Amino acid sequence: MNVLVINAGSSSLKYQLMNPETGDVSAKGLCERIYIDGRLTHKVGDKKVEKDIPMPTHAEAIQAVLGILVDPVDGVIKSVDEIDAVGHRVLHGGMEFSDSCIIDDEVIAAIEKCIPLGPLHNPANLMGIRACQAVMPKTPQVAVFDTAFHMTMPPKAYRYAIPTEYYKNDDIRRYGFHGTSHKYIARRAAALVGKTDFKMVNCHLGNGSSMSAIKDGKCVDTTMGLSPLAGVPMGTRSGDIDACVVQFICNKYNMSVDECLNMLNKKSGVLGLSDGLSSDFRDLEAGAEQGNEACKLALEKFYYEVAKYVGAYAAALNGIDVLTFTAGVGENGITTRQAVCDYLGFMGVKIDPEKNKIRGKETLISTPDSKVQVWIIPTNEELMIAQDTAELVNAAK
Ligand code: ADP
Repeated sequence: MNVLVINAGSSSLKYQLMNPETGDVSAKGLCERIYIDGRLTHKVGDKKVEKDIPMPTHAEAIQAVLGILVDPVDGVIKSVDEIDAVGHRVLHGGMEFSDSCIIDDEVIAAIEKCIPLGPLHNPANLMGIRACQAVMPKTPQVAVFDTAFHMTMPPKAYRYAIPTEYYKNDDIRRYGFHGTSHKYIARRAAALVGKTDFKMVNCHLGNGSSMSAIKDGKCVDTTMGLSPLAGVPMGTRSGDIDACVVQFICNKYNMSVDECLNMLNKKSGVLGLSDGLSSDFRDLEAGAEQGNEACKLALEKFYYEVAKYVGAYAAALNGIDVLTFTAGVGENGITTRQAVCDYLGFMGVKIDPEKNKIRGKETLISTPDSKVQVWIIPTNEELMIAQDTAELVNAAK
């Protein structure tokens, strides 16, 4: 089976053509500068092709993707009919979606209803869906939501302690994001540990970071909230912050709430703490090594907050059996994993520094006597999207 996985942003569109059973990727690429001019980068194995193709809308971007997939020289299939289904990443499913689903008019209307919750991403995701429907009307399309995995959280985890009317009238609550990644890691962890009934914390630490408390494969709490701003500090996002900081800054600097939120989303996190030096952990590690105090603080704050959430979730779950690290920093950040685990000795977490010296490989890094198994598990959101898509499409046959 061939599943085309689409992740449509406001001016970009990422794609992968993959086999959901084996995880083999036959081609992948990126359309950029949609609405500006249009640029396609297409990769088959180690071969990379770059082309300037006019993309006045997402429809032309999808046309360009299909065009290159069937291209006699750079393509990997003979006809678009060889694509059995399309899986779309959709950011916000609100309270409408607790699972992936086959796209029909009702689903589109429900995704539209969630636009106020995901004002930047959902419209772009919809453009990707509509563009695919237009050019491949007979191919089944599936929506996979970044929020869906978290819909199993109990009210005590998802409700904010504010007047009920905002929840009842406006759906204001914790939703959580990176759900596709958390779901994939929960499944991989179950396969690696060899059972399904256990308690774990997954640390998805990348440019955007979120953590989830997971019991028997189901999410019971997560760090991101109504939006991806909440939780641990990230590359450029502040993470949790007292709402009065917004009021103070807006008043003092005559900023609008939107401007202040832009600062909290784009100029904060480890970028802000490192005095604007970098949001990239490799730069911060290099800076810290050279004695840069701001870089040291940015990293220390990050390790501290990640460890604090592991502790909080261990309390929420009444102990944990497994701790997993994934995404760019989680998979590659040797120092980060060591520093976070150093905080957790009190709960019996012990990692082997030698085993920890590894990047991007599925590895058990805890010692045999550690009370908690600590794993590095590389995430694969595209594969999770392709698998959900295949499952739904096969079930509907
Ligand atoms: P995104 O949230 O954008 O998907 P990724 O999961 O790709 O981000 O993570 C990107 C981050 O991973 C980079 O900002 C970088 O800080 C970090 N990273 C990548 N390689 C390393 C490494 N070798 N050591 C430490 N951090 C790394």
